[in-house]
Amino acid sequence: ENKHQDNHEFIFRSKLPDIYIPNHLPLHTYCFENISQFHDRPCLINGNTGETFTYAEVELTSRRVAAGLDKVGIQQNDVIMLLLPNCPEFAFAFLGASYIGAMITTANPFCTPAEVAKQAKASNAKLIITQSAYVDKVKGFAKLNDVKVMCVEDETSSEDVLHFSELTSADESEIPAVKINPDDVVALPYSSGTTGLPKGVMLTHKGLVTSVAQQVEGENPNLYFHKEDVILCVLPLFHIYSLNSIFLCGLRVGAAILIMQKFDINKFLELVEKEKVTIAPFVPPIVLSITKCPDLHRYDLSSIRMVMSGGAPMGKELEDTVRAKLPNAKLGQGYGMTEAGPVLSMCLAFAKEPFEIKSGACGTVVRNAEMKIMDPDTNESLPRNQSGEICIRGSQIMKGYLNDPEATENTIDKEGWLHTGDIGYIDDDDELFIVDRLKELIKYKGFQVAPAELEAMLISHPNLSDAAVVSMKDEAAGEVPVAFVVRSNGSKISEDDIKQYISKQVVYYKRLSRVFFTDKIPKAPSGKILRKDLRARLAAGLPN
Ligand code: AMP
Repeated sequence: ENKHQDNHEFIFRSKLPDIYIPNHLPLHTYCFENISQFHDRPCLINGNTGETFTYAEVELTSRRVAAGLDKVGIQQNDVIMLLLPNCPEFAFAFLGASYIGAMITTANPFCTPAEVAKQAKASNAKLIITQSAYVDKVKGFAKLNDVKVMCVEDETSSEDVLHFSELTSADESEIPAVKINPDDVVALPYSSGTTGLPKGVMLTHKGLVTSVAQQVEGENPNLYFHKEDVILCVLPLFHIYSLNSIFLCGLRVGAAILIMQKFDINKFLELVEKEKVTIAPFVPPIVLSITKCPDLHRYDLSSIRMVMSGGAPMGKELEDTVRAKLPNAKLGQGYGMTEAGPVLSMCLAFAKEPFEIKSGACGTVVRNAEMKIMDPDTNESLPRNQSGEICIRGSQIMKGYLNDPEATENTIDKEGWLHTGDIGYIDDDDELFIVDRLKELIKYKGFQVAPAELEAMLISHPNLSDAAVVSMKDEAAGEVPVAFVVRSNGSKISEDDIKQYISKQVVYYKRLSRVFFTDKIPKAPSGKILRKDLRARLAAGLPN
């Protein structure tokens, strides 16, 4: 009976044939599988200092870190939290953890102490690795909960803080023998998914190997990156987009990965010229700032062969502007979602038979995977050129949310389809276009803002009786969070009071841009906030 149904489903696949994916291998083994071909080539370049680590050095250091993690008491299946900006230690810690079967959860170092504590607690982190600048943020929590804190710099002198050099000085022959199962979790990024609070997304060795292979393996000999590439890594490694599509993909093919701690337009232009960057993966707000830079013409950017944008929607106009400003580069979009491992689709600019890149398209579904567009009302799959919820199935998607079977079931259905909460369609040339977002998620410059998190804070304020948070369009950030609130009887609380109340508790990108007072939050009989109505109110002109 199932089969009969399947025959009537509209399922989309890549334009390219499936490939062999060795996803029985642990992630680090897979990433370093071809290392003999590029042993002495640069692997990590620290853009801040110019310091370069070859592939041989990165592999050796990672193994030492693995042995060192064991020495400081980290065991298989333990969680390590990285609270770090982009730096070589991030890479060593991630790979080191993979060797011993530990898991890495990542967080933005700008998060508030409360946000960090929440994630560290929920993920049951045993060790937090951070920079000296952020040690104070985690010390209190760590002490209370018996969590170890480690600092990447050697200078910090404090009795209860460990140093990264304790890991890198370990003896690589002392890595404990562990048996890693392909279904073991290696990365645990946090994401709110289609609804609710941030949750731990369990990405396995098998899932990440599959995802990397889907992006870079293949015919060309490499579909997207190859070993002569210099890939810019300015997007934060604590987000899975950068960790997977830049770092892991770069490693697998033997490319040089140029690490920038933060985006600074002039430093970026200098580095592109100096290091001859060939691949520049971005999010739309960075692309926007490049097109607006008055100094662009003073630099030689001709080495860039590809500009990739993902993480948030990019309008056609912006795409066309970049194409005019960087005529030597191909510009393509990729579409990802943490839970999907993260890449669902990407532009095939470098396939053997190159396909036309259409403005506004997010490329084609990755190989060895299936995509379906579902009518959100009837749950039926839709044919080409009809919009519905984008769903994906394949070995690359998450195993589930950590300790949350209910949220997992609501996201991955019984047939294995991951429901993205994004609305889109697939055209006659197999190109995917995203047109809307069904889910409540807000994306500020590609960073996640979960309305439920801000709503919980607002509702717990004694002067507010109800609240809803939705996204509002913004030129620089793409979207910003704004709140509709209902004051408690007699309260005169102001917009500024409310904004400050939130600012004190959250990382900068979750701050409320506006607060609108209203008599009632529109809700469905089930109690669900009718966010569409609120967004429509915003679209019709600011409510006050
Ligand atoms: P995250 O889990 O933080 O990567 O966020 C995933 C969400 O970002 C997706 O579900 C989309 O809503 C949005 N997104 C990512 N890439 C794109 C893209 N190329 N175009 C439009 N939206 C995107």
